[in-house]
Amino acid sequence: MIKTDIIIIGAGPTGLFTVFEAGLLGLKCHIIDSLVKPGGQCSEIYPNKPIYDIPAYPEIMAGDLIHKLLDQIKPFDPGYTMGESAVELKKSDGEFIITTDKNTKIKGKVVAIAGGLGNFEPRKPNLENIDKYEENGLVYKIINKDDFQDKNVIISGGGDSALDWTLELSKIAKKVSLIHRRNEFRGAVESVKQIQKLKDKNIVDVITPAQLVAINGRDKVESIDLKVNEEIVTIETDFIIPLYGLIPKMNIFKNWGLNIEKNAISVNNALDYSTNIKGIYAIGDINHYPGKLKLILSGFHEAAVMCHSAYNYINPDKKNILKYTTVSGIKGFDGSVKQPKKSTINSIN
Ligand SMILES: Cc1cc2nc3c(=O)[nH]c(=O)nc-3n(C[C@H](O)[C@H](O)[C@H](O)COP(=O)(O)OP(=O)(O)OC[C@H]3O[C@@H](n4cnc5c(N)ncnc54)[C@H](O)[C@@H]3O)c2cc1C
Repeated sequence: MIKTDIIIIGAGPTGLFTVFEAGLLGLKCHIIDSLVKPGGQCSEIYPNKPIYDIPAYPEIMAGDLIHKLLDQIKPFDPGYTMGESAVELKKSDGEFIITTDKNTKIKGKVVAIAGGLGNFEPRKPNLENIDKYEENGLVYKIINKDDFQDKNVIISGGGDSALDWTLELSKIAKKVSLIHRRNEFRGAVESVKQIQKLKDKNIVDVITPAQLVAINGRDKVESIDLKVNEEIVTIETDFIIPLYGLIPKMNIFKNWGLNIEKNAISVNNALDYSTNIKGIYAIGDINHYPGKLKLILSGFHEAAVMCHSAYNYINPDKKNILKYTTVSGIKGFDGSVKQPKKSTINSIN
């Protein structure tokens, strides 16, 4: 069992910044996210869009903001469980145990839910009997690309994920075929150009316009049926990877006994963003209170307030005094130290 001070559910900007604020107070964090890469909406939905309302950054790409946050929290060495969803909450010996859908268990003194719009679930193809192929050749997210080494892989979709994974898996798979229901792709033009080159070299197959109409196989995927120009074409394959985007769903947190309002977790915003369960906080887009602004900067503020409250909850006998980093510097858990600069003004005339 993994043990920590604060279990953070969600590696979006709010969850990541929580690691920093907790670290300043000497608290260790472990982050869980159902997505494989950190960054929440910034990485998943708009990594290449500029954001204009992050204080002190007149303009910053969403993806770059996440890289900077990851850099900032590095000294506090958080644990990560990525590609797994937090599905169950229990209390034992005064601490919380979160279990993921892959049965990883994490024990912590405090839970910070920074789950944004909810758990991102894959948009699935509308086909009969697809459940039996899930994890048996039908894959919605790629956790370990080595699984596709020397295999026949079909990727279905027209966005950046479909294009990026076609390029990536073409380096290791036996054969990658990209299928899309339209002739035009929505993803980056540069990726489309690279795939065109691979197609010309016969490294990648591209079949458009083509619609996935059936998955076939006894216990696992053996082939798929495609509708191409009104004809049904069957292609043998080891894997079919539909990448049709992700839909955020709030349903998991609704079963944890938390007060829910407007499809978000109600918190005490007058105090510390605590929920109705002592020791559990909800911060960032996932929470609701009067006047809530679903902005990145709101999540940053809420993370700081929440961590100070968590410190007092974990250490009821210790006094917690707010320290400026300009004065205290940063002492990382990895041994790194950032010393505050000595002031050159040392006398008063
Ligand atoms: C197109 C677009 C443009 C935007 N532009 C701006 C802007 O200009 N300025 C601005 O301030 N804001 C902007 N926003 C809003 C901003 O992105 C959000 O406010 C911010 O991402 C919220 O951060 P978060 O960490 O609270 O949640 P998220 O970024 O949503 O991250 C939550 C994470 O929690 C994970 N998660 C949820 N449930 C579970 C679970 N049960 N188990 C494991 N993991 C779970 C999710 O996978 C996700 O990674 C924009 C949003 C969009 C969609």
